[in-house]
Amino acid sequence: MNNKSSKKIRVRFAPSPTGDPHLGAMRTALFNWAFAKKNNGKFILRIEDTDKKRQVEGSIENIIEGLHWLGLNYDEGPEIGGDYGPYTQSQRKSLYINAVNKLLDDGNAYMCDLSTNDLEKMKEEQKLQGKPPGYNGYSRNRPRKELEESKKNGLPIVVRLKVPLSGNIEFEDLRRGPMKFDLSKIDDFVILKADEMPTYHLASVVDDSSMNISHVLRGEEWISSTPKHLMLYKFLGLDPPSFVHLPLIFGKDKAKLSKRHGANSIIEYKESGLLPEALVNYIALLGWSPRNDKEVLKYKDIIDLFDFKGLSVSPSIFDPEKLNWLNGVHIRSLNDKDLIQIAADKLSKELKDDSDLVDKNKLSEIIPLIKERIKSIDEIYPSIEFFFKYNKPDKSIIKCGNLENSKIKNNLENLLNDFNELQERNSTSHKDIELLLRSNCEKLDLKLRDYLGLVRNCVTGSEVSPPLFESIEILGLEECISRIQDCINTL
Ligand code: GLU
Repeated sequence: MNNKSSKKIRVRFAPSPTGDPHLGAMRTALFNWAFAKKNNGKFILRIEDTDKKRQVEGSIENIIEGLHWLGLNYDEGPEIGGDYGPYTQSQRKSLYINAVNKLLDDGNAYMCDLSTNDLEKMKEEQKLQGKPPGYNGYSRNRPRKELEESKKNGLPIVVRLKVPLSGNIEFEDLRRGPMKFDLSKIDDFVILKADEMPTYHLASVVDDSSMNISHVLRGEEWISSTPKHLMLYKFLGLDPPSFVHLPLIFGKDKAKLSKRHGANSIIEYKESGLLPEALVNYIALLGWSPRNDKEVLKYKDIIDLFDFKGLSVSPSIFDPEKLNWLNGVHIRSLNDKDLIQIAADKLSKELKDDSDLVDKNKLSEIIPLIKERIKSIDEIYPSIEFFFKYNKPDKSIIKCGNLENSKIKNNLENLLNDFNELQERNSTSHKDIELLLRSNCEKLDLKLRDYLGLVRNCVTGSEVSPPLFESIEILGLEECISRIQDCINTL
């Protein structure tokens, strides 16, 4: 075994707090997490907040909330600490400054006082001359003293890496194989900004190295950064980790996934009634496949089956219908106990009541009625609300085919008597209720759909509901009698 493969597996998810965590970022987190879990390694959260201008308030909290909601718990991170902390880049400045000083002292980096305006002008001119725009090495060969003088005089100074002018840089992407980049195409890129904050490239290398990261799994959009990072590793005399670049995610229109394709923020998904295990299952299949045609995956399956060979190299397409389908599958595979708990939480939130209104015994009778029909957690409350709270239906929906109101009233009054009788006989099972309603319908010579529709509207307050006979049994005849009476009064 060589050094690298015998190294303990340590991987990191390193988001920048520039907005809500999106689907693609969470997929990166998931694959890192699964790889760590499968290999008995460590999964680390590192916040890359060196670009203070782009930082969005609340995004660190949302990243943490998103990871917890999805069940992607990390072993080391900003609020839990660990042996390699701090885990927030803005708190690690001295490490970056040390690295910059080494690079400057070794002649592998240099300071530059070119202003942003002049840099822009330079690029405009290059464009006019038909050349690719970029930094032209303006300070590359100027004496360090001169630039230190500029710094003393208060000019904004950045530090740039002295990229070799020719040659190639090569590395092995563990999924894509050998990759080769032409150094002459890489500018002397900035490693330390004028505000003395490191750029992403420098901070990423210093941290991956000092946090002992063994593998970097990140999106394909970072692939062109990897040669820059490898140069930094070389100049700093550090061992690079292994790299795996994950396929891009597109919408069905082949454009990079964004808000336009529906919810993209994990927080929005959380609030939309998706089960976290369904979303995790779905994002696992975005660019990876267990290669056994299995589509419904639980956390354990993902951990057991995850490997780099299953990663695709072409972009994956986000398909919201498949996500909804998987959500339904996962909801139906929840055990009743979990669903009852989810329903109880929703009810107490919606009814703003945590008293016995949310009666778990009652819920245990209700849940089996709806379990096979719901595709989203959000459908639970509307379909069971009537068991807990009666919203009297509008007069316009208290109807029965073409029957006039007086006849409807009459039929409902007769039904009240029938229900009273059932109660007296103690025949209150859904079978007794079904028998009664069917025979009434026959006697009245009404279409079953019309008659049951009328009863449903009165009892549930809505035109759609879980199976009617069972619902009446759970509601209890007494409650149904009072609801029907209420409707009679409106007619
Ligand atoms: N901070 C980068 C991001 O926001 C991390 C890229 C990487 O994993 O190296 O995605």
